[in-house]
Amino acid sequence: MAIKSNIEELAIFGGARMFATPKPTSNLVRPDFDKFLDYSRTFFDRHQYTDDGPLVKQLEQRLAAFHQTKFCIAFCSGFWALALAIKALAIEGRTEIVMPSFTYRRMADIAAWTRLKPHFCDVEETTLANSAATVRPCINKNTALILGVHPIVNFCDIDGLVELAGEKNIPLLFDSVESVYESSAGRKIGSFGAAEIFSLGASKLVNGFEGGYITTNDAQLAQRLSLMRNFGLDVQGDVAVPGGLNARLNEIHAAMALAGLDDLEDQVARNRERYLTYQRLLAPLKGIRLYEFDESHHPGYKNIVIEVLDDWPLSRADTVSILNAEMILARAYYTPPLHRKRMAYPHVPVELPVTDRLAERFILPPCGHLVSNEDIADIVGLMSFISSNAASIKARLQQQGAQQQ
Ligand SMILES: *Cc1c(COP(=O)(O)O)cnc(C)c1O
Repeated sequence: MAIKSNIEELAIFGGARMFATPKPTSNLVRPDFDKFLDYSRTFFDRHQYTDDGPLVKQLEQRLAAFHQTKFCIAFCSGFWALALAIKALAIEGRTEIVMPSFTYRRMADIAAWTRLKPHFCDVEETTLANSAATVRPCINKNTALILGVHPIVNFCDIDGLVELAGEKNIPLLFDSVESVYESSAGRKIGSFGAAEIFSLGASKLVNGFEGGYITTNDAQLAQRLSLMRNFGLDVQGDVAVPGGLNARLNEIHAAMALAGLDDLEDQVARNRERYLTYQRLLAPLKGIRLYEFDESHHPGYKNIVIEVLDDWPLSRADTVSILNAEMILARAYYTPPLHRKRMAYPHVPVELPVTDRLAERFILPPCGHLVSNEDIADIVGLMSFISSNAASIKARLQQQGAQQQ
């Protein structure tokens, strides 16, 4: 897999692809198969496949202990964990949810399910996330809920948002999918705000194939959420809370997540090694900056984020296209931001200058279980090649574009 010797060898110009199999940005971590089977035997032998089975209970206990919270309620996905948490927490009769636009692609769709209007707020230049300062101007008499969302690297403004929510007496929910492993000033993520939501999807740090969960210290909220995920039914089978549906996690997903938890420390060590490899190899490359983790948070190092600086000689779009052609499935970070997408549901119109500017600058390069340190060396090597040959690549891209028209 030699680095190209001239630009005609780039796959985007018809050359051979650098990788035979795709190098994704998805974690796709796999636990030990026998461990997964061992856990699975528990539910299989008992013929209990779902409905608050032994493995789901065990998983909830382990996650509550991990996050140092009183309660953990597991769901079939992060999406439904989030939707039901919003439903349970939003102030009744109010219509808006404040959330960042520069975030997870499906966030506004989740709000639409709960029939709340997204009121998108801007983000901080320094964190790529929302803060008390960016949320405050969006608060009005219609605000039903504040959603703090942790970005892919480091945190949103936890303390500021907690303080603002208290001052305004508005419930605060954290989407902590991307900060599942981390601690803030020694306190584990999981117990901030009214509740925090997490995902067990295959691309996340803990892979349950699909799944999600909520952590909270609020007994009433925990009780309500556990009813809501099970049709809203109480033990007599009567509807005890409105808005219920079937959002239970099943046992085989819990088995996978439990096996993943057993491997978590090792996984994080592997992730960190990939991160340090990127850090070392990208350091001499001009125009690209690695977005660094704050080591004091004990991060999980799941994804890598790089910033395309003004002196990088190609556009971000061209850079991503060139990499993608080689099976390097780098992606633009949270692009387009949600307020720039066509939306089929009501939302509050806003101008978000910081989000607009930042949305052009970041790339997620490959990471996770299917990417080796050798792959990273090849990927950064190719980026260096692109940078050294940028002028001729640009000319060739222009020529190619002209031919296609
Ligand atoms: C993946 C993700 C979700 C949703 O989780 P699913 O389990 O995939 O439904 C929510 N928020 C963030 C930030 C995510 O990355």
